[in-house]
Amino acid sequence: MARDKISVVIPVYNEEPVIGRLMERLLPVMEGMDREYEIILVDDGSTDRSLEIMKGYAGGAVLVVELTRNYGQHAAVFAGFENSEGEIVVTLDADLQNPPEEIPRLVEHMEAGDFEVVGTIRVTRNDPAYRKLASRVVNALTRRITGVSLNDWGCMLRAYRRSVVQHMVNSREHSTFIPALAVSFAKDIAEIEVKHEQRHAGESKYPFRKLVSLHFDLVTSFSDLPLKILLYSGFVMSLLGIGFGLLLMVARLVFGAEWAAQGVFTLFAILFFFLGAQFLAFGLMGEYIGRIYREVKNRPAYTIRRIY
Ligand code: UDP
Ligand code: MG
Repeated sequence: MARDKISVVIPVYNEEPVIGRLMERLLPVMEGMDREYEIILVDDGSTDRSLEIMKGYAGGAVLVVELTRNYGQHAAVFAGFENSEGEIVVTLDADLQNPPEEIPRLVEHMEAGDFEVVGTIRVTRNDPAYRKLASRVVNALTRRITGVSLNDWGCMLRAYRRSVVQHMVNSREHSTFIPALAVSFAKDIAEIEVKHEQRHAGESKYPFRKLVSLHFDLVTSFSDLPLKILLYSGFVMSLLGIGFGLLLMVARLVFGAEWAAQGVFTLFAILFFFLGAQFLAFGLMGEYIGRIYREVKNRPAYTIRRIY
């Protein structure tokens, strides 16, 4: 029986020191699986020698997709998806934090249970403490937003069925979070535990700012909860305002005009607080509008320069 082809999609952004080692470990694993495979390396606008090095591997089962500039990890993975043809598509980070040796187990688990998405849980997570803490918050949040109770949403070592990948490619979203998008198109989802290693070389491509932006994407592309919170807190604030006005009126009647004047600075403080809350609300709405604007313009989320 011919077994399904596997595609491995790897986004690469300035990973010059790790690509060699990655391929050294990945190629034997794929050969060992003894079935058809392809490896798709996506160069996400690297400014170092990453592309040169990758081009050296192009040909045969290895495809190198060159993007015109740095569009971000998730867009790069999308470019890989679009150019993949395997029935099972595995995503992997280039920095060897996800051991390529786990791929056969991932695929086996997927086929044994006929799953559409198989995620992974990083058992011994090798990341800074603040990242682990942030992940716990994000994982809880993502479980709520998607209504799917996976444990670890951040690990990019994952396997998807062709149908799910196709739905993702067709959805053409600009700012998105692939693991969350995938589960919205899948019914049978599983998770397995995998090893997690330290980054082989180089440094994380996620400075704090990018990390925040990524998770903002996650929340705003999958939920309008922040807008609802705005609505409800606006409602509560108005009630508080009315209550406070009544209180002042009564106090004035009971204690006279001088008493009311003493509260003027407290009033200012309260006013500034609400004013601040209003600006926050504008900003938040602006974020959503910005995202709508980007989707409406419908420019491609990435552009491919060449494929090797
Ligand atoms: N990456 C990318 N484009 C970016 C940022 C990262 O393609 O703009 C790739 C990067 O090369 C790596 C993967 O995404 O293969 C994960 O990045 P990294 O290991 O730096 O993230 P961390 O492990 O720190 O979360
Ligand atoms: Mg990493």
